[in-house]
Order: sequence, then structure tokens, then C-alpha cells
Amino acid sequence: MGQKSFFSDCQKQLREIASQLKLGPEILQELEEPHRIIKFQIPVLMDNGEKKIFFGFRSQHNNALGPYKGGIRYHPNVSEDEIKALSMLMTWKCSLVGLPFGGAKGGVIVNPKELTQKELENLSRGYVKEVFPLIGPEKDIPAPDVNTDPQIMAWMVDEYSKLKGKETPAAFTGKPLEMWGLEGRSEATGYGGVVILKKLQEIFGFKPEKTTLAIQGFGNVGSNFARFAALSGYKIVAVSEAEGGIYVEEGLNPEEVLRCRERKGKIAGCYCVGSVCDSSYGRQITNKELLEMEVDILVPAAVENVISKDNAQKIKAKYIIEMANGPVTPEAQEILEKRGIISVPDFLANAGGVVASYFEWLQSKEKRRWKKEETFKGLAKKLGQAFEKVWALSQREKINLRKAAYLLAIEKVAKAIKK
Ligand code: GLU
Repeated sequence: MGQKSFFSDCQKQLREIASQLKLGPEILQELEEPHRIIKFQIPVLMDNGEKKIFFGFRSQHNNALGPYKGGIRYHPNVSEDEIKALSMLMTWKCSLVGLPFGGAKGGVIVNPKELTQKELENLSRGYVKEVFPLIGPEKDIPAPDVNTDPQIMAWMVDEYSKLKGKETPAAFTGKPLEMWGLEGRSEATGYGGVVILKKLQEIFGFKPEKTTLAIQGFGNVGSNFARFAALSGYKIVAVSEAEGGIYVEEGLNPEEVLRCRERKGKIAGCYCVGSVCDSSYGRQITNKELLEMEVDILVPAAVENVISKDNAQKIKAKYIIEMANGPVTPEAQEILEKRGIISVPDFLANAGGVVASYFEWLQSKEKRRWKKEETFKGLAKKLGQAFEKVWALSQREKINLRKAAYLLAIEKVAKAIKK
């Protein structure tokens, strides 16, 4: 978002790793750009009877390991640059956690909060009409991302099935349960982040009750991360959303904050400890303050580029778990590393969502329902193993976790391309 190119940062990282892995020029050339990126108009019938044009994107980065896979986001700041970058990150993510998928991403330039339900439905169905020939259960399987949810997936998969002339639940993941959605899919990304938190706990010996966390972003990912971290005994002292956040020194109760926000429409003022929300507990903070807070662990779970060279010097947390996609810029990573701050890269930390999507895809194809425990168990195993490999390589080669993750992920994709 904004000033610099997210995609060129991703390309730069790829080139560095490619030269270390001594990848041939033809492989680098293939990976440097998505296989295909489309930008299209989506005409949407608005409630006032007028037609409005929205712009949509789908970037299919690579499918050497399996069908393209990745979410669709609805956000006013969506751009071609961003969608291309995120599709590349999906390729690395699926490779790293061992899924038979490639990488893709989609988006629409829109503030969904300004649309009615009917308009949102028209937009979502319109999106599918435009990408229909390019997607499908064995081609490209979209899923939710920022500001998209099971309801939106329901409209999309319904539209896809209509166009196909046959129920095709495996064309999308992140669907409602009644449409072959997976129990636990909504919580999966947050849950996966806490699997990573516990891996760090094993290594560094955190005492959860004494370990403080600040979480930026209280959407699906941030709020579920907060819930599972609190269930494991961690002390969450700050949470925020786009408009700002709250700080509660004694540690807040994420479930109550969620309920309070439901009532108030925003987090500000939701100072909830135990089962009580009371303004005598905390104070309001900005997103900037949250990122620079005196905490043990910082969890950016909103959007990209929030930790950059402008604030990397001011980060006080000793550990960062990147739950958003691309929250730490390459320059910031260098500064953090020099300062001894350990950052678990996005495409490892937030892979729980796509791992659960994989289970949902299997469930939708095989028509065998997965139990939630089975999903969480499978997820913890896949993420845990990926973390261990990344950790071992970083220790052996004395490199940071991001670099280790990139080396493993890219090497695997390159091998598949060679084959
Ligand atoms: N949007 C999520 C991500 O960035 C999930 C993608 C998926 O399930 O395909 O990983």
C-alpha cells in the first residue's frame, strides 16, 4: 500500500534467494512475474437502479505444485501491484507448508462498508462472471481474504455452479458449513498463528501469564489469534482496528472486546477485563502507538508495510509474529535483525488459513466431512513441521527465519518447475 512497490520488494527478495540457490535464468524469469494477471470491470446494479463500475483483479502466479490458490480481498487500496505481490507470497506459502497448490490472489477496489448486502452480492457474483473461465477446482480455487467472508464465498460458489451447470463446491474454500464449508476454517488462520506462538514458547521458554502481546487488526485473523492466545494464558494488553485501539495494562479479554465492539460498532472504549467492560481499566491508543508499545510480542494482523524503515527502530517487542501478509518491509527486516528482534515471516505464520482451505477442498471433492478436532490437529501438524524445518535451517545457516523460509519454499517450487 502506498509509497513503494510491494511487488518489487517481493521480486527483490526472490532474486536474492534465486542467486543463492543458483536457479537458472529461465526459472527466475518465470517466477519473477505471475503467469497471468487480469484486470476487469465489474458492472454492478446498485440499489438506486444505477449501474456502477468496479475494478477487479486476479493474479495467478505459479501452478508448478498444483492448482493456483489464494483469497480475494475487498479494499479501497487494492492495486495491481499489491495483488501480484500477494499472489507470489501465496506460491511460497503453499510450497512451504507442503500443500499441492500454487499461488494466486484476487481483489476488488471497493470499500465494502459502503455497499448494501444486495450490492455486495451483485459485486461478488459479478466478480465470478468475469473470472469464470480461469478458475475451477483443478485450476484456481479462490477463498476469503481481507473483508471477504463465508457469505461472499456462498454467493461466489453459487454463481460458479450456475455458470457451470452443476454444483461445484470445490471451486471455492472458506464457504458456509451448509455448502461444504469446513468447521474451523474461519478460526484457522488465528489458530495457526498460536501454533507458531507455542513453538516460540518451546524454544524461548515464555511463561504465558507473564508474556504481553499487542495485536494490530481485530478482523478475522487478529481476533481469533487473540482468542486462542488468551485461552493459552497469554496476556493481551493491546488490540486495534483501522480507526484505533485500546490498551489495558492488566490484560484484556478478547471475547468481551468482540461482544463490546458488536454493540458499539468500534473497539474504542471496550476495556474489558474478565467479564467486565469498564472505562476505569484502559486507554485509547493509535495504531502507531500500538506498534511501538513496550510488549514482548507484537502481532501485526492487518495490512502490509506497517513496519517499515520509519518505525523499525522504535519497535520494542522482542518477537514479531506476522499474521498479515507483508507487514514488514525488507528495509525494516534488516533493522529488526540488527536489533536482535525475531520475526516469524507472514507466509509461515499465517498459513493456517490456506492449510484449512486445503482440507475444505478435499472435503468438498470427496464429500467426507472433517471434524473440527481433525482440522485443528492436521493444521497444527503441518504448521509445526514447517516451523521446525525453517527454524532448523535458520540455526544451521545462521540466517533469519524469513530467509530460511524463502530458501525452503522457493527451492521446492523451482524443483517442481524443472520436472
Ligand atoms: N487469504 C488467505 C491467505 O492469504 C487464505 C487463502 C486460501 O485459503 O486460499 O492465506
